[in-house]
Amino acid sequence: GGLPSDGFIDSTLADIHTRYRGLDDGEVADYIPILAEADPRWFGLSLIESDGAVHEAGDVDIEFSIQSISKAFVFALVCQSRSSELVHERVGVNNTGLAFNSVMAIELNDGKPLNSMVNAGAIATTALMPGATSAEKWENIRTGLSRFAGRPLRLDGRVYESEMKTNQRNKALARLLESYGRIITDPLDTVDIYTRQCSLLVTAHDLAVMGATLADGGINPLTGRQVVSAEVARDTLALLASCGMYENSGEWLFEIGLPAKSGVAGGIVAIAPGKGALGTFSPRLDSAGNSVRGQRACFHISRVLGMNLFASN
Ligand code: GLN
Repeated sequence: GGLPSDGFIDSTLADIHTRYRGLDDGEVADYIPILAEADPRWFGLSLIESDGAVHEAGDVDIEFSIQSISKAFVFALVCQSRSSELVHERVGVNNTGLAFNSVMAIELNDGKPLNSMVNAGAIATTALMPGATSAEKWENIRTGLSRFAGRPLRLDGRVYESEMKTNQRNKALARLLESYGRIITDPLDTVDIYTRQCSLLVTAHDLAVMGATLADGGINPLTGRQVVSAEVARDTLALLASCGMYENSGEWLFEIGLPAKSGVAGGIVAIAPGKGALGTFSPRLDSAGNSVRGQRACFHISRVLGMNLFASN
């Protein structure tokens, strides 16, 4: 409910896909070597309404690694199994104003990494995931994210291997967190789990389902299953509004007016509470690591369909 008619949404997605498919600004990420193999032409748009209606255009079935978008859903799972207050106290909920892989995110605040949407805070959040062993924690993450998506998600072993060979910086962040007593589990095991969660494969369609679950008070609109509580969904969206697009979160909220999360493989999920969610995929990124076409598409779709949270009409 709350969005225009099905036909209007379908034609809007088709128009916006056509409008931006030729936009070639930005670069495909290559700091994780295997990501450089992505085809920069890929472009998919999926919008799933809270009642389960699906609207799509372009490459919505191509799988890519979820990367940082996993941070939003792992945060929700940790809030659900532990508590939002615990994550608030241990990690924080303020924007860093810094790049996603910043070390200063830890140093600025006596080791408290500021928020779960940048690497330092995400590693500290993954460390809070329940499970007696690392294998159990990883399985809890994989099955939890699969419930959000409504299908079993699998790890891309090549993405995982490629990142594990080049993630010295994340390992350093974890050691630094350990030195401040901010992670008490084994830091390198925690980075291993974090790297696995980032290597789960999703499609633009999956991202829209996962986002629509948050839009719908934690209930997956396609499976009908309650994945997290309405309170946890609300807390997750509040955090995404301030921190989901890294240091560009303020500009994003000003222009698009929706809580969202991006990842360096080119995915974005943007959520309209009570209405539904958009999943977009296009690999070329801006300097903050956010998909260029995905951002333009979200801007226009939010405007045309009246999704901006702050608009009174
Ligand atoms: N796995 C990536 C990393 O830790 C995720 C970063 C991202 O998507 N911004 O560097």
